[in-house]
Amino acid sequence: MRTIIFLLLLISTGCFSGCEKSATGAKPELVTTSPIDTPPVNANLPTVPTLTPTPKTKETVKKDGLVELVKLDDTIKLDVRYATKNNFVGREIYKEARAFLQSPAAEAAVRIHQNLKKQNLGLVIFDGYRPLAATKLFWEVTPASKKKFVANPKNGSRHNRGCAVDLGLFDLETKENLEMPSGYDDFTERAAIDYASGTEQQRKNRAILRQAMEADGFKVYSAEWWHYDFQACPESRILDVQFSEIK
Ligand SMILES: [Zn+2]
Repeated sequence: MRTIIFLLLLISTGCFSGCEKSATGAKPELVTTSPIDTPPVNANLPTVPTLTPTPKTKETVKKDGLVELVKLDDTIKLDVRYATKNNFVGREIYKEARAFLQSPAAEAAVRIHQNLKKQNLGLVIFDGYRPLAATKLFWEVTPASKKKFVANPKNGSRHNRGCAVDLGLFDLETKENLEMPSGYDDFTERAAIDYASGTEQQRKNRAILRQAMEADGFKVYSAEWWHYDFQACPESRILDVQFSEIK
């Protein structure tokens, strides 16, 4: 009986399984608007490959999967230079010294940190997820000859997606950062991963970091020994959420 009533209803409305298709097919220009056809929220970034709007709320941030590294393991050392004046811009860029990555990248970083303990070493984080506003600022203040060291905000970087991390090593006993062939954000050839000078110990430290990172899903950026991209990034969007919005 119920089946008969249901069939009668279908006949009376003329709506079988294909009704949605035929209805949309009648006036495709009214229903085919996709996010990619919609102008970006930020008119200055027409080429940003953003398929969904940049998240603004705390609730959305949680969905974006950004995880605070020290909440997974509080023995990871933070040395967030952009929250100090000790960076290439010479002023504080971040209001808070915090570091976030997409969940799988954060979990990999924690595993790497914990494996390094066997060598009495740990990871020291200089920067992780970076709001787009900071990338824009870096691009503006960097001269053309040094632009390879900063990302073009039109395309964004993996930092903006929460899938890149700038980091080094520190000694678990002394808590001191290990020496590398150059300082962090040294925009010279000394920063290159294959830079052959520096001391033997500095090159060894750089190699330990690279071996550890590349064994668990990260790949070094050849121009910067400190920059690693997480290869299986789960986020394609460029994010511009402030740290204060992430609880
Ligand atoms: Zn970086």
